[in-house]
Amino acid sequence: MSVRKAIATYKGIPRDEIDWFPTVDLAKCSRCKICTDNCPHNTYDWKDKPIVARPYNCVVGCMGCANNCPEDAITFPTLVWLRDELVRLRKKYPEVRL
Ligand code: SF4
Ligand code: SF4
Repeated sequence: MSVRKAIATYKGIPRDEIDWFPTVDLAKCSRCKICTDNCPHNTYDWKDKPIVARPYNCVVGCMGCANNCPEDAITFPTLVWLRDELVRLRKKYPEVRL
C-alpha cells in the first residue's frame, strides 16, 4: 500500500479544522478488513481491527469506506453538517474561495 502524507489543506482551509473522517462502531465490525485494504489515502491502520489512525487523510466528502462496509459499521457526519461547517470556516478564512 502506498503511503501518502496528510492533505494539509482543503480549498485553502487547514484540513485538520474540518472534522470529516470515519468513525467505526467496533460492536458492529466483523473485521473483514475491506475498509483498511481499500482506502487509497491511508486513513486506517489495522491492529486486529480497523483504527482511524490518520483521520485528516480522509478526503472531505468521501464516504467510500462507509458505503462498502458490509456491516454498516462506519459512519460520517452528515452532508448538512459539512456544508454548514464549510460556511463557518469560509468566514474564518475569508480569503478562501470554495
Ligand atoms: S469494512 Fe466494516 S466490517 Fe469490515 S473491517 Fe471495516 S468497519 Fe469492520
Ligand atoms: S471515506 Fe474515502 S478517503 Fe475517507 S477513509 Fe473512507 S475510503 Fe478513505
